[in-house]
Amino acid sequence: MGKDYYAILGVSRNATQEEIKKAYRRVALKYHPDRNPGNKEAEEKFKEAAEAYEVLSDPEKRARYDRFGSEAFSGGAGGFHDFNDIEDIFRHFSDIFGDFFGGGFETRNTYHSTRRAARIKGTDLRITLRIDLNDIVHGSERKIKVKRKVVHPQTFYQTCPACRGTGKVQRITHTIFGPAQTTATCRQCGGSGQILIQKPSGTDENGMIWKEEIVTVKIPKGVREGVQLRVGQKGNDAPSGNGVPGDLLIHFKEKHDPHFQIDGLNLHYDLPVSLPELVLGGSKIIDTPHGKIKIHIPKGTSPNKTFRIPGKGIPKLNSEHYGDLLIHLDVHMPTRLSEEDKKYFQKKLNDPNFQVKTGSKRKSFFERIHEIFSS
Ligand SMILES: [Zn+2]
Repeated sequence: MGKDYYAILGVSRNATQEEIKKAYRRVALKYHPDRNPGNKEAEEKFKEAAEAYEVLSDPEKRARYDRFGSEAFSGGAGGFHDFNDIEDIFRHFSDIFGDFFGGGFETRNTYHSTRRAARIKGTDLRITLRIDLNDIVHGSERKIKVKRKVVHPQTFYQTCPACRGTGKVQRITHTIFGPAQTTATCRQCGGSGQILIQKPSGTDENGMIWKEEIVTVKIPKGVREGVQLRVGQKGNDAPSGNGVPGDLLIHFKEKHDPHFQIDGLNLHYDLPVSLPELVLGGSKIIDTPHGKIKIHIPKGTSPNKTFRIPGKGIPKLNSEHYGDLLIHLDVHMPTRLSEEDKKYFQKKLNDPNFQVKTGSKRKSFFERIHEIFSS
């Protein structure tokens, strides 16, 4: 059996032309490809409705259909238009769609790619993200809850009749040199080429609502406080039928790290060591953002010694260059000495090995600083 065109449009067999037209408008809106992106079934229904409307809107074809059913139109026998694609339907029915909306059948996202106005961009959203040293060194991925303003699915737009969807109007201005034609942004639609025709209650003046969304943000390594990250089109929707959403702008705030200080691309770490460790030497394991690092402290190391570990600092944004890790010794001096300890150190006061050296062998503070930062 053939298709039931009346059922497809949801009208009775004795529906008037006006009823059929109205019914087609309703069905076409419901299954419009812009409202059902990627939905093959909706697309099929949209095509089917076009087919039904083509037949039932033509009294001659309708009479033939009533007698013979849809078979009368298959195989090219009845002059039925075989739609190739959605665009074809728009082209074929442009006059009808025009009737509906006074300009062109264009809903929310505008199926037509041609004849498009300058795209209106939605407003940007701004959020602040707190980052820690690990985020800075390795980058990270975060799922964040964002409240975006979006166009309600039941909000519809039509092509602006004033500018015919171009968003621009030509104006003749009279100058002292005579009339001059200028192009201005259409005031009716604000340049979007679309005007609001239907919005449900509970939406704002543009038919928009707030919606919570989870946005996945990739934080690049080397990101720092003060850096702004732009996530394209994750801001608010454009308050028009065919605009693009604004962006999501992310600002970063660094959490204070209890162990490491950041200085440019370098990381500084104060390594606690005891006096005997310093005197006798030993090794220490440090937990760094780059993993565990073993530091060998040679015996008799100066408390002023700084160990520099190249490439274990923080990365430069958008580069593979890393700063260094500088390990400073934080020598713990005993606050209490036993009688035995006191006697031991008193004995050492006159030991030549423990004497303060002056002259060429001892480096000044500034020389040592220079040594640290030039190595
Ligand atoms: Zn306009």
